[in-house]
Amino acid sequence: MTRIIAIANQKGGVGKTTTAVNLAAALAEARRKVLLVDLDPQGNATMASGVDKREVQATGCEVLLEEVPIERAILATEAGFDLLPANRDLTAAELKLMDAIARESRLKDQLAKLGERYHVVLIDCPPSLHLLTLNALTAAHSVLIPVQCEYFALEGLTALLDTIKAVRQRLNPALELEGLLRTMYDVRNNLGNDVSAQLTKHFGDKVLRSIIPRNVRLAEAPSHGKPINLYDRESRGAIAYLGLAGEMIRRERMAGAPPSSSVN
Ligand code: ADP
Ligand code: MG
Repeated sequence: MTRIIAIANQKGGVGKTTTAVNLAAALAEARRKVLLVDLDPQGNATMASGVDKREVQATGCEVLLEEVPIERAILATEAGFDLLPANRDLTAAELKLMDAIARESRLKDQLAKLGERYHVVLIDCPPSLHLLTLNALTAAHSVLIPVQCEYFALEGLTALLDTIKAVRQRLNPALELEGLLRTMYDVRNNLGNDVSAQLTKHFGDKVLRSIIPRNVRLAEAPSHGKPINLYDRESRGAIAYLGLAGEMIRRERMAGAPPSSSVN
């Protein structure tokens, strides 16, 4: 079954796009068929995947407005995953969708057309909780929340959790929390530990074990249009995202395995 994961947090700069692109690349390296959906009009995930957002023929805009079939808008990337690109046209799509019927389920309907072509679909959400993010949360099986390990990390999480709750009530009852991912973790200060302790207190085992360190190579890679595994695969950032991919694959296997009590 295709697993659709929305990467969301309405706070900007917490590592959503970095996680979306590098997790897509790491999962592709682990031989998973991956589609990355760039749902942010800034098109950062598109550029970081090595695709020029100014030169794409079609984006999520035309797909959400049902002007172009989703298969025709999807591109292959150098890192081995597929990409539904974005640019600022998506802002226009969001405005046009305001008055549309079933406006929150457009992405879900389009992804359904791909059948079981992919193991994983990752959706890079914009820094807001508006219609584009609602489309992602309606389409998704789960939400992955990157949390930057700094002061006020938990501020704003309440709004996101409230939105997830509202989406469960009205649009997508099965929506799960995939987990909270600690990003930009700095071993040189204690703040990371403080934030970790707070997160664990509130979210328990929903806090993923993998931790993404602050690593300058992760910040450099997008300007070369490459995920970290193609830019500097020995870097701590590359190793961390491979570890995250491994953790997610293991969790999925465990979720799919029969409960041990039924084995006799
Ligand atoms: P978001 O998509 O949530 O707005 P980004 O992934 O674009 O966040 O990250 C914000 C900025 O921080 C970018 O310039 C990115 O390159 C940088 N960045 C993200 N994660 C890391 C990291 N682990 N180490 C260093 N820089 C990072
Ligand atoms: Mg982003």
